[in-house]
Amino acid sequence: MKIRNICFGGLLLLGSQLSFSAEHVVLVSVDGLRPEAIQQLGKDQLPAFYRFREQGAWTDNARTDFDYTRTLPNHASMMTARSVTGVNGHGQRDNDMPEPTATLHNNTGVEAYVSSVFDVTHDHGLSTSLYVSKSKFILYDQSYNEKSGAEDQTGANNGTDKIDRYLFLSPDRTAEALITQYVEDMSKERFNFSFLHITDTDGAGHGDRWKTPRYMKALVRVDGYLQKLFDLIDLDAQLSDTAIILVADHGGAGRSHGDETDYENFRVPFYVWVSSPDNAGSTLAGRELYELNQSTRMDPGANRPDYSDVNQPIRNGDAANLVLELLGLPAIPDVGATINAKQDLNIGL
Ligand SMILES: [Zn+2]
Repeated sequence: MKIRNICFGGLLLLGSQLSFSAEHVVLVSVDGLRPEAIQQLGKDQLPAFYRFREQGAWTDNARTDFDYTRTLPNHASMMTARSVTGVNGHGQRDNDMPEPTATLHNNTGVEAYVSSVFDVTHDHGLSTSLYVSKSKFILYDQSYNEKSGAEDQTGANNGTDKIDRYLFLSPDRTAEALITQYVEDMSKERFNFSFLHITDTDGAGHGDRWKTPRYMKALVRVDGYLQKLFDLIDLDAQLSDTAIILVADHGGAGRSHGDETDYENFRVPFYVWVSSPDNAGSTLAGRELYELNQSTRMDPGANRPDYSDVNQPIRNGDAANLVLELLGLPAIPDVGATINAKQDLNIGL
């Protein structure tokens, strides 16, 4: 905690591009979110999504993992800054309910411990939470609980349980109850890092195809959840230095999203919004992320660059190390954690 406090008040933090750090970061993953559906419904129907677009830094043309456009593989990338496959991969290819013994550490792709955004945050003495609306996300709790989490080698010993609060709640296959519970908990506990997973759009897509009226209705419902989050932050002075990152694990077409070569599956939004007492949020002011990152990222157009391409797109996997940068913390130290490893994704702060 002491180290972090040095960077408060706008002092430049060594090793970071940011002159600002947030006390709280909320990473929101909207399952199966197609960005053009946001454009299609527009600001009148999606005021919270448009708050990101007008007050944040954003793109509608981020990418998923190269090889996988499925839920568990992509969420693992968002948490670990790793690709799914390859020598650096976290190896989580499976997308089904995991066995009780399964973790990200015993996947075939990777032999050693796979560190996550939860590890770095928790090991620095900050609080963490994971609120999810699909039961199979238990995989991540199994990976970072007291039994499976690594010893804390950073400063004071904060223990092996890297996720202080894990909650799965989805009685009606939406995230409505989950978000209500999160807002109630957050108003008391003010987790430094929260990861929220919203299932609604994916459920509607599989049930009735992507971008049907049922899908659009689910998207309007998700906007309501985001509005609740903004209300919480706007009204609580102790949350006035909060950043929100909004991403998706994949898009979708027809009734599915398994084909990783389909533009409608691999194209996802990446939005960032920052509130801060010294008005740093206003400097974001609706900038487009590729415009802000011309020296390190390239808008892929309709293409799907792999990880060896010199022109990397912004990926949902950039989120892990951006979360840490926003909290004033170093990147995930693993050699394999290559996505946004330099914490050089510029959000305009
Ligand atoms: Zn799905």
